[in-house]
Amino acid sequence: MTAYRNMMEIFMEQLFDDRKDQIDCCTCPECRSDIIALALNQLPPRYVCTHKGELLSKVEQLAKQNRADALTALTQAAERVKEFPRH
Ligand SMILES: [Zn+2]
Repeated sequence: MTAYRNMMEIFMEQLFDDRKDQIDCCTCPECRSDIIALALNQLPPRYVCTHKGELLSKVEQLAKQNRADALTALTQAAERVKEFPRH
């Protein structure tokens, strides 16, 4: 059982799916993973111990504090993947 998770991963996945229509890049599963991975490298990880039920409220908190930075990272990552798509 996983005892810890990087909340940034969950947050970035949510943000991507949320902004999918506005992202000026292919959003197939491969490009999605590439964009999210690139964006995650730009941001400090936020590991938390996971206990049932707590995780989502922590992600929400993180989202409030880091939305602007995360969006910038996501947009830059999409631009890079668009230039060199791997699919
Ligand atoms: Zn693609």
